[in-house]
Amino acid sequence: MKLNPKLIRYMGNDEFRVLTAAEMGSRNHEVVPTSLIANIANLRHGGTNKILNDLCKNTLVARVQNSKYDGYRLTYGGYDYLALKTLSRRESVYSVGNQIGVGKESDIFIVADAEGEQRVLKLHRLGRTSFRTIKEKRDYLRNRKSGSWLYMSRLAAMKEFAFMKVLHENGFPVPTPIDCNRHCIVMSLIDAYPLCQIHDVAEPGKLYSALMDLIVRLACAGLIHGDFNEFNILIKDDDTPILIDFPQMVSTSHRNAEMYFNRDVECIRTFFKKRFHYESRLYPRFSRDVNNEHRLDVQVAASGFSKKLQEELEEVSRRDSRQERGKEGV
Ligand code: ADP
Ligand code: MG
Repeated sequence: MKLNPKLIRYMGNDEFRVLTAAEMGSRNHEVVPTSLIANIANLRHGGTNKILNDLCKNTLVARVQNSKYDGYRLTYGGYDYLALKTLSRRESVYSVGNQIGVGKESDIFIVADAEGEQRVLKLHRLGRTSFRTIKEKRDYLRNRKSGSWLYMSRLAAMKEFAFMKVLHENGFPVPTPIDCNRHCIVMSLIDAYPLCQIHDVAEPGKLYSALMDLIVRLACAGLIHGDFNEFNILIKDDDTPILIDFPQMVSTSHRNAEMYFNRDVECIRTFFKKRFHYESRLYPRFSRDVNNEHRLDVQVAASGFSKKLQEELEEVSRRDSRQERGKEGV
């Protein structure tokens, strides 16, 4: 997905009003009727249609004709634009540089603030692959809110930001969370390579222990990363690890906590065997090594990302992975 920050400089107030109106209308319409957009935007001299045409050309909205009415759908481009505009107004982002990552459910860019200090912008893109099929099946848009990629991507960003904040405040090695708006988060840039790109470490045993300690420390604080693998661990020059990407972080009170914990541990064991030919008899076990002393999961819920939101997001991930499996014919 391309990000076009240039548009920010060229769009005027009326364009912004109309795009915002399309976003507002998206809260309860998949396709926002043109008349509703005009109503919300309420431009003094009219002209909503012309502006919608221009926004369409820049792919910030897409025209949809359905059987009942004509309207527009906000695109990811439009949503990116609105988020970038807010982040730049708040001075979290001043300029946008290269894309450094593209995952199945996110795009990662280097950005900078007004002083030129580099940061990382992560745009969550939930439902890029599977919402279309969900929509076709029509099985769950009854619950409108969670059927929308807009809402789910925003929830994913909120979740990541809430976890990063609490982890950072409690001294865990994660990037510094800077800002969050809509489906985007801004965090500090870590000068390091992901573990998957590292073929040599001075002391594999030391790094192995540091990673296992991190898994246990997290669990003792009530949290399991859930995707603790070589892509989500950055290794600094001095071989210290920094943890990123909290898409499926769960609480140790989750009913499958032990399974998630073991899977994280197993991921590291397997990787170290394959990559560094390092194998240790020592590895942490949930029942023996985890005692919940402080409950950061409770702190995360208190920070605004409630248990209910967490469950909503989990429900969609489950559907997504079921669909993915379905597609692969497994
Ligand atoms: P995804 O959800 O797509 O897996 P990640 O958060 O894992 O997204 O980021 C993808 C890649 O982007 C990482 O593997 C890493 O190389 C890079 N990256 C992400 N965040 C940072 C950061 N704060 N500093 C440096 N690199 C980062
Ligand atoms: Mg990742």
